[in-house]
Amino acid sequence: MSKILIIEDEVAIAELEKDYLELSDFQVEIESQGDMGLARALGEEFDLFILDLMLPGLDGFEICRKIREVKNTPILMVSAKKEDIDKIRGLGIGADDYITKPFSPSELVARVKAHLARYERLIGSSQAENSIIEIRGIKIDKTARRVWVNEEEKPFTSKEFDLLTFLAENPNRVFTKEDLFREIWEMESVGDIATVTVHIKKIREKIELNSSKPQYIETIWGVGYRFKV
Ligand code: CA
Repeated sequence: MSKILIIEDEVAIAELEKDYLELSDFQVEIESQGDMGLARALGEEFDLFILDLMLPGLDGFEICRKIREVKNTPILMVSAKKEDIDKIRGLGIGADDYITKPFSPSELVARVKAHLARYERLIGSSQAENSIIEIRGIKIDKTARRVWVNEEEKPFTSKEFDLLTFLAENPNRVFTKEDLFREIWEMESVGDIATVTVHIKKIREKIELNSSKPQYIETIWGVGYRFKV
């Protein structure tokens, strides 16, 4: 369930927004003071902020700027004046969207949904590209260089990790032992292609339920190996 923080000093407006968002299954918190709102925005985890411009304590400009220094969470700014919206756009302080009061609650909900969906796609794709590979119960964190099999972490040596990651990043492709040796061991003079066989065996012992009947890394007889998806 997505969690939203409304920073708004007009109680009636904040409550109306909250009611409509809750009807769409969002979890909503309200903060009416600017400085308190900023403290919560920075200190707690939220999926989206709805931020009023004119607030006691600290105004919406400053709050938006401060959140953007540390978080990419979507920010929807709300203002009573059209001129203020133009001003916010002009300042380029990093808000994702702007809405003028009075607005229809259903329009607000639609915009919230659109921004959450866009942000989730963004997060999802950057995680997939940058660091996490997940295939049928195997999770590889490339940044931390850690591997989990059905939620249980398994210890991997550096070369075992490189080999598994390379195969998992190129699923359903067959590689010869020579290919893999060149790819993982590069110019290192020690070892030969038998090293590949040894490492595949060790990886299978860690990831396969039954390493004589591998479900992940298959042996293609006479050719090499492939990671089956
Ligand atoms: Ca206000």
